[in-house]
Amino acid sequence: MSNYEFGICPYNPDHRIMLFRMPKHIVKCEKNYRGPPLKICKYNATHRVLDMEEHLKECSYYLRSIDNRNVQIALTTRIPPIQENGYDVSTPL
Ligand SMILES: [Zn+2]
Ligand SMILES: [Zn+2]
Repeated sequence: MSNYEFGICPYNPDHRIMLFRMPKHIVKCEKNYRGPPLKICKYNATHRVLDMEEHLKECSYYLRSIDNRNVQIALTTRIPPIQENGYDVSTPL
């Protein structure tokens, strides 16, 4: 029994690696890898895939980054408040 989260090594599905060891493992495993070149996910360097488009559909890091971006957009494009009818701050009383 273990509390560690495991991931599957992108270079060899037989490798089950503790997630916190994955970055190191990938560097090592990449050197011995002889298969077709894998693309590195922009959102998490431990994601190595053949088909990036397919991967992004399910990449939680990518999906999270889109979420964050949408929040950013929502914050930066807020419409300035419409002035109340009959009240104009520029008119001196
Ligand atoms: Zn490996
Ligand atoms: Zn990814």
